[in-house]
Amino acid sequence: MINSLHRPTAARVNLEHILFNLHQVMSHLPADTQAWPVVKANAYGHGAVAVAEKLAPHAAGFCLSNLDEALELRKAGIKTPLLVLGVVPPEAVVRAVEQTVQLTVSSRDWLTAVKNFQPDLSGFQFHIKVDSGMGRLGFRDSQDINQTVADLLDHGAEFAGIFTHFATADEADSCYFQEQLAFFQTVLDQLPVQPKIVHASNSAASIWYPDSVFSAVRLGDIIYGLNPSGRTLDVPYPIKPALTLTSELVQVKQVPAHTKIGYGASYESSASEWIGTLPIGYADGLTRDMQGFRLLANGQFCEIVGRVSMDQITVRLPKYYPIGTTVTLIGQEGSAAISVQDWAEYRKTINYEIVCLLSDRIPRIYK
Ligand SMILES: *Cc1c(COP(=O)(O)O)cnc(C)c1O
Repeated sequence: MINSLHRPTAARVNLEHILFNLHQVMSHLPADTQAWPVVKANAYGHGAVAVAEKLAPHAAGFCLSNLDEALELRKAGIKTPLLVLGVVPPEAVVRAVEQTVQLTVSSRDWLTAVKNFQPDLSGFQFHIKVDSGMGRLGFRDSQDINQTVADLLDHGAEFAGIFTHFATADEADSCYFQEQLAFFQTVLDQLPVQPKIVHASNSAASIWYPDSVFSAVRLGDIIYGLNPSGRTLDVPYPIKPALTLTSELVQVKQVPAHTKIGYGASYESSASEWIGTLPIGYADGLTRDMQGFRLLANGQFCEIVGRVSMDQITVRLPKYYPIGTTVTLIGQEGSAAISVQDWAEYRKTINYEIVCLLSDRIPRIYK
């Protein structure tokens, strides 16, 4: 989808805030910990190339979810080590090696398939993924891991890392986290060869279990100024939200009582009302379940009335405002604010999903 530039809807991304957040987390971890910011999914909607360019001098590497995301950064001239966390198609390993992209090995079957395409694995930098309790990707058995590592080394590959991923580090109860940690530690204890780095902590584990990080951390949500627990746990130091979303009133009309608004004629004005139209809709990631949510126009909260359309929404204004009036959808106006977390709660989801779903139609403007 192309950026729509001839439309007053835009996301402003403060890269200084992202750097600030990265420093905040890292300054609360042991001094030799490596930062591997997670810039998958277009840096959680914030713009992967811009974020990676900003953080490159402060990052040991970046994490991506698939090979194309890594290649995007290489194409943009990013020279920092890159790690793909997901499963890359076996035939694409050659491309990863060419572009010095480190890959995750999470099963023996996958490695067998890779060797069919690529018997010589020299230059292949791999990270072993341990499934310590997430149940998704990874090995669950130490012997299996050690055989796979030996096999990879025999074929000329480099043991760049070993890692796991926590399922509950953002929850108040630490029981399952401790179980996963203990399992991972057992696997590490049985490794006959040491990799360059060991990493387990996502944002939540880095924030709430700073004593349990290994040699590197994979930081996503928190660097974008979002609390990975929502409002369950407090982040013990200040962080700054990095993204604001604004639009402008493109039409304002006064309607009499009993006027229907939008698809399905689902809203009817109860009195004479001022209705403003904004050029943003579900194709931008402002989903239909946002009907009834309140936005900020001129420092006043205004409800989205009528259905959310693909490209437009309508809001009830407290009085006449001229076209061109800025409306804040995420961000601050004076003492009033709307956060990504507010969107998430309204939509009964997590803040991650809100920023990831802001579509490419919304231009990102960098500060
Ligand atoms: C996405 C992801 C992360 C980052 O998680 P946050 O909660 O955003 O910090 C870390 N590790 C893996 C394996 C991931 O998939």
